[in-house]
Amino acid sequence: SHLSVHVPLDGGRAYDILIGRGLVDAVGAQAAALGAKAAGIVTDETVAGLYGARVRASLERAGLRCGIIAVPPGEASKSYAGYASVCDGLLALKIERGDLVVALGGGVVGDLAGFAAATLRRGVRFLQVPTTLLAQVDSSVGGKTGINSPHGKNLIGAFHQPRLVLADTATLDTLVEREMRAGYAEVAKYGLINDPGFFDWCEAHWRGIFSGGPERDEAVAICCRAKAGVVVRDEREDGERALLNLGHTFGHALERLTQYDSARLVHGEGVAIGLALAFRFSARLGLCSGQEAGRVANHLAMAGLPTRLQDVPGGSGDAEAMLDAMAQDKKVRDGALTFILARGIGQSFIAPGIGRDDVRAFLQD
Ligand code: NAD
Ligand code: ZN
Repeated sequence: SHLSVHVPLDGGRAYDILIGRGLVDAVGAQAAALGAKAAGIVTDETVAGLYGARVRASLERAGLRCGIIAVPPGEASKSYAGYASVCDGLLALKIERGDLVVALGGGVVGDLAGFAAATLRRGVRFLQVPTTLLAQVDSSVGGKTGINSPHGKNLIGAFHQPRLVLADTATLDTLVEREMRAGYAEVAKYGLINDPGFFDWCEAHWRGIFSGGPERDEAVAICCRAKAGVVVRDEREDGERALLNLGHTFGHALERLTQYDSARLVHGEGVAIGLALAFRFSARLGLCSGQEAGRVANHLAMAGLPTRLQDVPGGSGDAEAMLDAMAQDKKVRDGALTFILARGIGQSFIAPGIGRDDVRAFLQD
């Protein structure tokens, strides 16, 4: 028994996201149903040790020839070198156009394997098997794949939609608490964007998401449905999709100021602080009540997430440094910034033309 989310694409195509415990053992049956004769499992060394053998056994039971290509865990593998080793590994396995790439892991593996699949032999089919909360609710949906360049994150990439996403929520049982919390910031984000009822539900049920109760599957399904809906309605990314960046203008600036050092700050922690700041800033601009801003920060803090600039280990620098870091986030026009702000929980909107002075005064408070 599992949940499923149907994602329609342009041109009448579509794919499904299956969500439930134990789905890693169903990879083979699903791959066989797609008519593949061989599969290349792309993963990182940590996830390979935990789930590689089960996925391989599942594929072999279904009669597929398969092999595992494991890169070192961490963002550094989303590189030209990582990409080359994955492509050459897939070619060594003789993966052909009709075969499958299986991306087994977090967002790093999904982006890297997806990009390899998009370009190998001008495109082979791929299957996402996301194993972090962030990957299950965010990166495995939407079709964005890619790697980093020394010039910046995600600068080399392609849109390549998976044939199927198998989100095995039991894999999250082995995720370290900190990664679980970081992914949870993105879960809460969906409620804050446009679903106040879901935020209420999160306040009541977040513990079940962490402990692996049925609430976890339900939350993943709700988030996938939300992201898929936004992506389908705004494939070219000129409107609504920007709302998914709620909390990310501040969050990305904090990641930059902490030199992307995951020992200090991981993405979801930056997002948690960014969400709390976006609501506090909205309250300060008179857009929403201070009480609602307080409710957002309280909930994130309850789940163990940082919510204030002072929570960044080693500090986040002064307001001017934050402003400069935000200005690098490519949304500046004549000294004005674009933010996602909110008129309340679940009432976010795109706010262009926010002046540097307003942001500075807020950050200096
Ligand atoms: P990650 O892939 O690095 O995984 C985090 C850590 O958890 C890794 O050390 C990994 O080995 C480990 N891990 C993974 N699954 C595990 C499990 N089940 N049990 C134990 N350990 C496990 O990080 P992430 O947070 O999943 O993804 C971050 C990446 O996602 C970034 O590169 C980001 O750019 C990308 N991303 C992409 C999109 C998109 O739309 N394509 C969206 C958001 C983020
Ligand atoms: Zn994010």
